[in-house]
Amino acid sequence: MRNFLIAGNWKMNCGIAETQSLLTGIKEIQDSMPEGVDGLVCPPMVSLQAAADELQNISGIALGGQNVHFEDNGAYTGEVSTQMLNEVGCDYVILGHSERRQYFGETDKTVNAKVNKSLEDGLKPVICVGESLKQRKADEHKLRVRKQVQAALIGVEYEDAQNLVIAYEPIWAIGTGETATPDQAQEMHKMIRAVLADLFDKDAADQIQIVYGGSMKPHNAEELLQQTDVDGGLIGGASLKADSFTDIIEIADNLS
Ligand code: PEP
Repeated sequence: MRNFLIAGNWKMNCGIAETQSLLTGIKEIQDSMPEGVDGLVCPPMVSLQAAADELQNISGIALGGQNVHFEDNGAYTGEVSTQMLNEVGCDYVILGHSERRQYFGETDKTVNAKVNKSLEDGLKPVICVGESLKQRKADEHKLRVRKQVQAALIGVEYEDAQNLVIAYEPIWAIGTGETATPDQAQEMHKMIRAVLADLFDKDAADQIQIVYGGSMKPHNAEELLQQTDVDGGLIGGASLKADSFTDIIEIADNLS
């Protein structure tokens, strides 16, 4: 019913030359996405145009930003607008990544403003939520993630639900080599879908892609993607190598 979404978050990696070579490498292995799999790459801002050019030769991989501002334009040094992302060819934008929350002062409130602005201007937000290790150990992980999802979606209209992607990313699993177990991931994704059903309705919730992020690699992707409510991956490290990214796409294809 739902396609898998296999998304690469390149973070602060890959300038223009590396972007061209990574996407050339991906194209050599996989020049079009399999039917049941949506692809997405999110390079740094300065590499978006180079990526957009390369993606002309790969069908089914969309382009996304890693952040956006909630105002149209103006005196916001260092920021980019939704219109700028649209102009360069982005269809998606990652919002509320834990690294942005941790290092750049992103809050539930700014994430919510960015979600609404992105939807208004035709960008699909990939909304990142996830608990810290401390919160999980204190058994507060469900409460934390439920609140993050609810806060991010304040003011979002029913008609826009189909344009949302939620990324469940336990902070303790990002870049650490440690992953949530398939059961832990399924439990959280199922809960997130229930929150979405409460906010919208069951039909809408059943259509929203909820992807897992946190050290997803070719060796653990299958068991995670097999879970009923895990609809893909937001992938950091393993998206920076053509073979590991396309291996995960192939695993998703075999499961779809
Ligand atoms: C991420 O950056 O969203 C991420 C999940 O990174 P990694 O796959 O490297 O853990």
